Amino acid sequence: MAGKKDSILIASPLIACNPFCAELKEKGLPYDSIWLQIGHVIRHLDYVTCLSDEQRLLVREAFEEYLKLLPGQGKAGVERLGLDLLGEIDKLKRAGVTKSLKMEQDFNADLLNAISKNLHQLRLIIGKAETCGMIESLKADTLQSIKSAKGRAEILKIVESGFRDLHRKVKTSQEKMEISLESLLVLEANAIIDKLTGIFNRRFFDQELPKIVETFIDKQGKVPFSLMLLDIDRFKEINDTYGHFIGDRALQRVAAIIQNNCRAGIDSPIRLGGDEFALFLIGTNEANAVKKGENIRREISKRTMSFTQRETDAAPHDVSFTVEVSIGVCQLDIAWQGMAPNELNKNPVFCDAADDNPIAKLTCMLAESTDQALYQAKDLGRNQVRAFGRE
Ligand code: GH3
Ligand code: MG
Repeated sequence: MAGKKDSILIASPLIACNPFCAELKEKGLPYDSIWLQIGHVIRHLDYVTCLSDEQRLLVREAFEEYLKLLPGQGKAGVERLGLDLLGEIDKLKRAGVTKSLKMEQDFNADLLNAISKNLHQLRLIIGKAETCGMIESLKADTLQSIKSAKGRAEILKIVESGFRDLHRKVKTSQEKMEISLESLLVLEANAIIDKLTGIFNRRFFDQELPKIVETFIDKQGKVPFSLMLLDIDRFKEINDTYGHFIGDRALQRVAAIIQNNCRAGIDSPIRLGGDEFALFLIGTNEANAVKKGENIRREISKRTMSFTQRETDAAPHDVSFTVEVSIGVCQLDIAWQGMAPNELNKNPVFCDAADDNPIAKLTCMLAESTDQALYQAKDLGRNQVRAFGRE
């Protein structure tokens, strides 16, 4: 009866395609349903996910060993050996499950660790507001991926690509920040630079002069400071004679001469507007400011400004002319702190006598006094340098 049952099993397609059971049959070894079960396990060994490759090899080796023991065994012996082998396989499976559970736990711990480390670093790198949104969406995406992913490798892949994506977004937003910072710097530079001449402009004058005066007061006037104002003589005539375009080129050349006479990073050349210029001379007293003014005046008056007909555009021929400037100079005096503006200048135009802010008061007194010196230079015949208060 048993023999009939066995032959049916052997004849079944399941057994026929199972090489191990076929091997049993070939070797004329006795087998039964237990060995059929073992054969089934061996056949599907590669799909037993809880076993490592090493454990699978162990099962295969044990199977071979047990096969060797089968010849000569009675039915009871074959059954016992089959149960023993099944027990061995089961033990390996249990160990494998424990091991893979442990691996799963370690993997999850590593994953969480990596996520929290990355989040922490990202928080440090970028500002809160923008990051929060990105991190929240990364969290949501990651959770969703973990739910829908088919395996650890897929989860890791999704999480990694999520972080890559986040890093990319962070980098882009950092670049954007850098670009806008750069454009802010350009804007800021444009705001204090005169377009025509490339030197500082009126805005710079208005911003910086009070700061210089403040430092001067803080240091109790120990570091001298002089202001110089320059105005081109009869510039209107140049414009009228040679045209506005040539007038602009002349303004550029005067600015260049003033700039060439500056100590880099110390003196600040400024175009106040029209044909009027200023120079901040930190660490320069009146005598030296006058000397510098004289050098500038002489250099400008000696320089023949020549323009070819092509350059002039408007004029029908080459033109050349000279330019002269009048210069006023004044050294800031700490003693002005105790004076009213009208004690220094008889009729102050700009300064408010009621102004009790010492920085504003001294700034205004200095600008007004230098302007008076320039006015004197003009009044006394132009093309000269005058210091404030000198007869
Ligand atoms: P003064 O000796 O008294 O200074 O005589 P001036 O002719 O120079 O008189 P003023 O300084 O008042 O004239 C300045 C002229 O500068 C008037 C204006 O036509 C001209 N101007 C102002 N801005 C510009 C500019 O950007 N380009 C040119 N080409 N001319 C300008
Ligand atoms: Mg002028």
